[in-house]
Amino acid sequence: MHHADLPKAYEPRQVEDRTYQFWLDKGYFTPKIDHSKQPFTIIMPPPNVTGELHLGHALTATLEDIMIRWHRMKGDPTLWLPSTDHAGIATQVVVERQLAAEKKTRHDIGREEFEKRTWQWAIKCRQRINDQHKKLGISCDWTRDTFTMDPGPIRAVATTFVNLYQKGLIYRGERIINWCPRCQTALSDLETSHEETQGHLFHIKYLFVDGTGDITVATTRPETMFGDVAVAVNPKTKHYRGVIGKEVLIPVVNRHIRIIADEDVDTSFGTGALKITPAHDPVDFEIAQRHSLPLVNILNKDATLNKHAGPYEGFDRFDCRKDLLVRLEKDSLLVKVEPHTHAVGHCMRCNTVVEPWASQQWFVKAKPLAEPAIEAVKSGQITIIPDQFQKVYLNWMENIRDWCISRQLWWGHRIPAWYCVDCNGTTVAIDKPEKCAKCGSARIHQDPDVLDTWFSSGLWPHSTLGWPDDTEDLRYFYPTTVMETAYDILFFWVARMIMMGLENTGQVPFRWVYLHGLIRDEKGAKMSKMSGNVINPLDSIDKYGADALRFSLVIGTSAGNDIPLSSGKMESGRNFANKLWNASRYVIRSLPEGTVDASLPPNLPVEDHWILSRLDQLAGRVNKLLEEFRFGEAEAEVYEFVWGEFCDWYIELAKIRLNQPGSPSPVPVLVRTLEASLRLLHPFMPFITEEIWQTLVARLPQDATRPDSLIIAAYPVSTGFTDLQAEREMSLIIEIIRSIRNARAEAKIDPAKRIEAHVHTRNNSAIESHRQAIETLARVQPLHILGPRTESRNDGAQVLHVAEVDIVLPMTVDVDAEKQRLEQEEVSLQARITGLEARLSDQTFLSKAPQAVVEKERSKLQDSQTKLHKTTERLKELGRMRT
Ligand SMILES: [Zn+2]
Ligand SMILES: [Zn+2]
Repeated sequence: MHHADLPKAYEPRQVEDRTYQFWLDKGYFTPKIDHSKQPFTIIMPPPNVTGELHLGHALTATLEDIMIRWHRMKGDPTLWLPSTDHAGIATQVVVERQLAAEKKTRHDIGREEFEKRTWQWAIKCRQRINDQHKKLGISCDWTRDTFTMDPGPIRAVATTFVNLYQKGLIYRGERIINWCPRCQTALSDLETSHEETQGHLFHIKYLFVDGTGDITVATTRPETMFGDVAVAVNPKTKHYRGVIGKEVLIPVVNRHIRIIADEDVDTSFGTGALKITPAHDPVDFEIAQRHSLPLVNILNKDATLNKHAGPYEGFDRFDCRKDLLVRLEKDSLLVKVEPHTHAVGHCMRCNTVVEPWASQQWFVKAKPLAEPAIEAVKSGQITIIPDQFQKVYLNWMENIRDWCISRQLWWGHRIPAWYCVDCNGTTVAIDKPEKCAKCGSARIHQDPDVLDTWFSSGLWPHSTLGWPDDTEDLRYFYPTTVMETAYDILFFWVARMIMMGLENTGQVPFRWVYLHGLIRDEKGAKMSKMSGNVINPLDSIDKYGADALRFSLVIGTSAGNDIPLSSGKMESGRNFANKLWNASRYVIRSLPEGTVDASLPPNLPVEDHWILSRLDQLAGRVNKLLEEFRFGEAEAEVYEFVWGEFCDWYIELAKIRLNQPGSPSPVPVLVRTLEASLRLLHPFMPFITEEIWQTLVARLPQDATRPDSLIIAAYPVSTGFTDLQAEREMSLIIEIIRSIRNARAEAKIDPAKRIEAHVHTRNNSAIESHRQAIETLARVQPLHILGPRTESRNDGAQVLHVAEVDIVLPMTVDVDAEKQRLEQEEVSLQARITGLEARLSDQTFLSKAPQAVVEKERSKLQDSQTKLHKTTERLKELGRMRT
């Protein structure tokens, strides 16, 4: 692992795999259980075994790795448990597509063969997902890697099912569910997307059996008339009162149904008379139950019509509709067709229009489980970040409906219920029973259906740790600490984990829920294969390096907000890595021969005090930001320090001292600052920091604070070392150098050329002690340090103002152009001052903004006023163009 020197350029490919293997070999990702310490635990949201990882996974993994590495460096026993999800319907659809390419269906090959094929696919896919995760550098404990269909989770699922069944919280019943005719399974409400669709409302005439008249009903799905069992009217509607109790004919099939009265009928919809189709509409289902009406199911599983549709038996639902409308028109029963926008449910997996359908399904009674889950969030046992999602969560939970958990699929956890042929009884058991629990018959068969995939992932925080067994992992790591995931699965998953965790263990599953946003392209559009704007994380790693990708995913992120990602952002990440590499290489190459003594000598120069003071404050801020889950800001702070203060200024200042024999050595402070910067940056960019750190510490004496790997080195904390005097002084010197550099650039002076400068100040000695820095970094020679300026300059010399300091550069500038520039500057300063003054007299701002922000605005105002004064003075000197 150790090298004497860093190669000239950073090659992520040379470093990443080797470093990852080193961490794995050393076992750093596996925590040591220590009962004297509080563990930090994250259970990874299991990616679906449906394909490859996308950028959303990369973001999840990076944010979690940042937390994990930070806590590990803080010395907490840290567990990050990786996992994958069998993903029921989603995976089944993928394998069915593969079969379709061979011109086969799952029915052609049979259940056993289909399961075998899906297992093979799942194993291959899991391997690929794990390999991709490793490429990102994530430090999860692979020894605990879990799949939702491993034996442990299988037992947890069956145990939960049996417990809930015995408590009456799982039941089987006939209810309206969303049926996907392509997948041929029930779907939960969450698995159905409702799209506003421009359709039609058809007004259809039903004739009275006694020939005395008719009643008109309105519907968006006329073919469902074959499933009608009544027409309902609201008894409050006067003109319908006389028809209640009459019989009408269903067109085409001429079945007799009765007109009934129900106060729930919406009088404003259509004609106010409602056809009741209880097998295919949830509202009708409830009305039919109240009136003890039968269910007439008109569909086959593939949404063709069955025998109840008479002449339309065997028709596809949409073909039937088309033909039926022609026929009704011909029979003068189609009264009116109106355009009508309504929500049409689509299967989220295959986009087929779903049918509401009454069928026998298994349900979880959700209300009793939701109550403690609501309480857990209200009482603050669980905190959801960002907090606006707290309201969203509570609102959903308070209106929760029973959860349909059975799926007519072949891939998933089989429902642990067996039906008896002899007594019709149901036996629910964890292990396959020998005989019927009611009558003892051996003629029992298992329910063919499987459970909704979210049933198993809902148990994830406890089932991965060994529940239902009382394991050491469960006792130590549960409740886990943070659940970090995308906001779009708050209900699917997070809510269910809270309900199931509380139900099974009596404890919350986690303390914090951190919801990140969705990744979008640079224009803010959702990434999709269709729009061709998908960025593959592996391609990005290949091109820019894993650290650069991680950097670009996190910089600028905040909880709950979507994240625009572009190649430009990844390039910035790579540039940052290169900048750090080059600076580190310089530092390491300037170390004296042999082992380096990095202890601090007394009487450090002011720039040493400055950088150490900045570093100490940075450590304080970064820890605080990470505690508050503000990952994007924490990363930006480290980035700005490393690039803006350490590389651009401190190292440049240190070079001057290194090149000048006799000046105090900057090596101890260079080493200290670099080493601490690498520690601070490690959770964000683990590979490059480890590589540099190994090379650096190989040159330092052995020390307990420097273990074998950066991954387990202590994370820097603030020691309270601040030197505000040094910070003020250095910030003045930096500003002086910067303004001379800007003036040179504007005047297009050859960068190698040295120019004369006069610095006028009241504080000669402070400036004098940085003479060399100014001379070298601003390319100034000779440099005259003088008292406050008295003589007026309108000879074409450039005059610069930095706080109270005036800098005169006796180079010839175009006086007219300079006047023009100053006048423009004057205008923009005035605008700025007006804005700041308005802000600072705004009572709402003053009362709401934090004190530090207000102070910052005040000091901005003061600076702008000083600058305006100086600009105006300078314009007077030059003689204004306008007055
Ligand atoms: Zn479908
Ligand atoms: Zn029986």
